[in-house]
Amino acid sequence: MSRVNTVLGPIPPEALGIVAVHEHIGYGMPGSELDTKWWESPEQRYAETVPKLRAFHEYGGGTFVDVTGICNGRDVDYYRSLSAKTGVHIVACTGFVGGDTALPHFARASVAYLAEHFVHEITVGIGDTGSRAGVIKVGVSRGGRMTELDKRIYRAAARAACGTGVPILTHLAIDAENAVAIFHEEGLPLDRVLFGHADDGVNAEKTRDTWIAEQGGRVGFDTFGYETELEDPPFWARPRKERLDHFLRFIGKGHLDKALASADANCSPLGWPGVKGHTVNYIFEDLIPDLRAAGVDESTITTLFVDNPADFLTIRA
Ligand SMILES: [Zn+2]
Repeated sequence: MSRVNTVLGPIPPEALGIVAVHEHIGYGMPGSELDTKWWESPEQRYAETVPKLRAFHEYGGGTFVDVTGICNGRDVDYYRSLSAKTGVHIVACTGFVGGDTALPHFARASVAYLAEHFVHEITVGIGDTGSRAGVIKVGVSRGGRMTELDKRIYRAAARAACGTGVPILTHLAIDAENAVAIFHEEGLPLDRVLFGHADDGVNAEKTRDTWIAEQGGRVGFDTFGYETELEDPPFWARPRKERLDHFLRFIGKGHLDKALASADANCSPLGWPGVKGHTVNYIFEDLIPDLRAAGVDESTITTLFVDNPADFLTIRA
């Protein structure tokens, strides 16, 4: 039976509904949990997060993919509770946002160790939570080029993806030639990889989105909503129309089947204030209306938010 791993157990891909494919319940840099300035009670975290997920559900959202990574505040018991309370399917990840957010214990590990760890979290579970990871997160460290550690993590992820059928999602799609070479060497079909953040304000120019799609990779326009129009925009913000036009150009070039979109928002940021005024519900409140206003039809919207993510997330036998 086809299935997708969610924190409350495997579900058939048809049950995913509308998917937010690159999001965060709470994201922070490793060590932020040690900084007392940012400590929050469980009540505060629920109060910040539950209304956003309830609104997501009310808008028609089905599935929230949390790609927070092992060292960035991933908290699977909390996700299980949130999913049960709100009715939103939550997919958790194994892997790391990038080599530069892997703590020394993992940063010193071999490809074999990392691959085995990812496979365990996918097939047995994440710790004793009983939840299996549904996607593998990897990424490019700051600096614009893949580091030796990034490459080790990509290779381990490729082996785990080949061994389990779970897909890979990347933080940044720059230096994609090196990533593609590793996936080829490991025998991983590129449609099992979603190359993310092709649209952000810092990296869009440097990202070969069309080339990635031509190689067979999927491309994530997944920082929708981080706009220069925000009250206090982050450094990766981009003018709203510029990002939308970029996305429309990409799907207009015949790459609709390779395109995925998301908001990369934080429900409850860890160790930083987050970006005010931006939530996962940007997808419903702004993005889908903008797509409709630009003449995108309903079947294309369904392809983008239902069919493509279901095809990507389904564990390939
Ligand atoms: Zn993210």
